[in-house]
Amino acid sequence: MAYRFECPRENCPFVLRSAGDDEVEKLGRAHVRLAHRDHIAPVDLERRIERVDTV
Ligand SMILES: [Zn+2]
Repeated sequence: MAYRFECPRENCPFVLRSAGDDEVEKLGRAHVRLAHRDHIAPVDLERRIERVDTV
């Protein structure tokens, strides 16, 4: 099982995939912090994470 995170910001094409849910959360949060200089609430982060079949 793998996980996919899609950035919730409009006009941001950032998508990441990871084999680990911890990792996808960490990298997704880091993206929002670094690219948008913002924080993402855990609930919003989780809402943007989907399970996918392959990394
Ligand atoms: Zn983004």
